[in-house]
Amino acid sequence: AKFNGRNRIQVFEKGLEAKVKKQHQLENDLRLALQNKEIVMVYQPIVAADSLKMVGTEILLRWHHPVRGTIMPTDFIPIAESAQLILEIGYWTIEKACQQILTWRETTDQPFFVAINLSVIQFRDREFLGRITDLVNKYNIPRNYLEFEVTESILLNESVRSMEVINQLKMLGIKLSIDDFGTGYSSFDYIRKLPLDKIKIDKSFIEDIPSDNNSVTIVKTILNMAHEMNLQVVAEGVENKEQMEFLREHQCQFFQGYLFSKPKEVNKIPKKFRF
Ligand code: C2E
Ligand code: CA
Ligand code: CA
Ligand code: CA
Repeated sequence: AKFNGRNRIQVFEKGLEAKVKKQHQLENDLRLALQNKEIVMVYQPIVAADSLKMVGTEILLRWHHPVRGTIMPTDFIPIAESAQLILEIGYWTIEKACQQILTWRETTDQPFFVAINLSVIQFRDREFLGRITDLVNKYNIPRNYLEFEVTESILLNESVRSMEVINQLKMLGIKLSIDDFGTGYSSFDYIRKLPLDKIKIDKSFIEDIPSDNNSVTIVKTILNMAHEMNLQVVAEGVENKEQMEFLREHQCQFFQGYLFSKPKEVNKIPKKFRF
């Protein structure tokens, strides 16, 4: 048994060592990924419940690693955060989004908004407001075309500072939505105090409607609350017609999910959404 135990420890250490090594390697690779153009943005349509027309998009990142293939953001955003690369990636994403907003303004008569996910580290950056102000001015971004998605934890952890940042962003005409709503701490205090525009119901709740009673209750409750407070609601992860019909019946205004489109590179967004 003793022998076995030691062996197991060695295997464990080897595994851990390999993991740490891989992590370092990825970190180094990520430092070069932006300039090597390995990080790309995909856009997922957000459609209006009544017309099913695209009203906006969410930007999601993909890392096309030359050896490891495509790495999803849930795997590399945490690395970017711990390696202090998230600011650079974040500002790059926001600038690209501004350029896309302008392109759509010039090439279609559709006012598509573009939503971007923000990390708490971006929120804390002292240059954040200044740089966002510069970008909004440089590209002359019209009001309400640029949207930031933040999670509940950002708002709770950074309460005084976030109040200040959010108020400034509002003045710049940037919209704010709460991402993954329902999965965080769900303190209703901040919803009352902050000038928010939208709530995105987490896909884990959408997944099990209309068959699971608890999910149904949660989704209905969120929708009721949002209506009372004049907040718009996006349901994420809508994959089938049953979910869509349920959400429509309960006056959810916006849908996002594979039923409409997966996230795609900008020139691959389904044509029916673009014209
Ligand atoms: P999120 O903001 O909650 O993004 C929604 C995720 O759900 C995306 O995964 C999207 O591809 C996926 N999704 C959309 N519709 C469906 C559906 O119908 N069914 C299913 N099963 N999934 C659906 P993705 O692209 O892997 O992104 C994961 C997370 O990575 C995002 O969650 C966001 O938190 C983070 N992320 C992505 N891009 C960025 C970024 O530029 N900056 C930061 N800070 N985080 C990002
Ligand atoms: Ca999001
Ligand atoms: Ca989300
Ligand atoms: Ca999520």
